[in-house]
Amino acid sequence: MLIPIDGGAAAYPQEVPQALGQWRAPKVSQRVARQIVEEIISRGLRPGDRLPPEAETMERFEISRASLREGLRVLETFGVIRVQQGQRGGPRIEQLSPTDLARTLSLFFQMFGATYRDVFDARVLIEPVMARIAAERQDPEQMQALRGLLELEKTTPAESYFQVANSFHETASGLSGNPVLDLIGQALRAFYAEYFFRVRAVPEVALERCRKDHPQIAEAILAGDADRAETLAREHMAKSRRFAEQNAAWMMDARVSWEV
Ligand SMILES: [Zn+2]
Repeated sequence: MLIPIDGGAAAYPQEVPQALGQWRAPKVSQRVARQIVEEIISRGLRPGDRLPPEAETMERFEISRASLREGLRVLETFGVIRVQQGQRGGPRIEQLSPTDLARTLSLFFQMFGATYRDVFDARVLIEPVMARIAAERQDPEQMQALRGLLELEKTTPAESYFQVANSFHETASGLSGNPVLDLIGQALRAFYAEYFFRVRAVPEVALERCRKDHPQIAEAILAGDADRAETLAREHMAKSRRFAEQNAAWMMDARVSWEV
């Protein structure tokens, strides 16, 4: 049965309720970790910056040294900070990247029994959509980056082309301008790329396909031809998937394992 919605906007609270985000009472370590994150954001701290001294934080949050360290450990696991030993050590803020998200995702994928085929299938769906959105948006900064990539695609000699192909997919998996989509797209790509490096499964012939297809995809995006960009990106991803399936099914069958 549908629940009737009465009152339109007036039926909603007019601001975010305080209780939101507290799904359950967090452990002390999680609470401390959250407080530190809020502080990083509110103080505008950047990667490389140090966190305030331990004693100061302990006093302000009214927590023990053990709780503070547990909280820091939680953040270190996610890649938000790094605790360095030594006299000039201490917690510093790290540059979070899609690879950090990929690490966390790998834990979940392993627990849910995902294979690298599942990861690839998700990429086959995401990258063409990215190409479409990018062609429609024509974001000046993105277009400039794509123009640079296109130049490299056309001029880099075969022996050093691998890095360029990699950069192309890195960019192409995060072109939507929506941080949620871009992070997920780029994390999946980072994830797959790391796996590829590990199993050393980047055959010449796969790179030749990239070399042929990437410039066409980039040109369609730059020309604002969303249909063509999406179609070409979909064909490229599908060909890559088919190739991997035919020549290295073991690679696709492999179950994801947690990379920390
Ligand atoms: Zn490619």
